[in-house]
Amino acid sequence: MSHPDNCIFCKIAAGTIPSRKVYEDEDIFVFHDIAPWAPVHFLMIPKAHIPSMAQVGAEHEALLGRMMTLAPKLALEQGCRPYPEGGFRIVTNTGAEGGQEVHHLHIHVMGGPRPWLRG
Ligand code: 5GP
Ligand code: ZN
Repeated sequence: MSHPDNCIFCKIAAGTIPSRKVYEDEDIFVFHDIAPWAPVHFLMIPKAHIPSMAQVGAEHEALLGRMMTLAPKLALEQGCRPYPEGGFRIVTNTGAEGGQEVHHLHIHVMGGPRPWLRG
């Protein structure tokens, strides 16, 4: 499940497709959504190609835990106001009926002052 030639998010993680980077480490890449719904809207992806939440297993527990604990820190850094007045929304669309368009697991983190374009 690593870096298929045709996966846009694998290419973004590898830097072969440009993006506005928020954060990067050995396993995780974070970048601004190209079509934001909210004043703050970034995507968190594993560098490894996991198609969706439907494919996660015990071997991904540490990675997903790190992504979820990183999200609040990055949300504040990107301009979300602190909880409880501010906050953010975390969404992971999974599969066609879940509204997933890009089949490389990603966590949407959205926040900032209302109203939002969507959501
Ligand atoms: P999904 O519908 O799969 O949950 O979300 C895919 C998200 O990826 C959408 O919000 C869309 O705007 C974003 N997206 C799609 N292609 C690109 C791209 O090339 N660059 C960036 N930065 N975001 C993208
Ligand atoms: Zn991929």
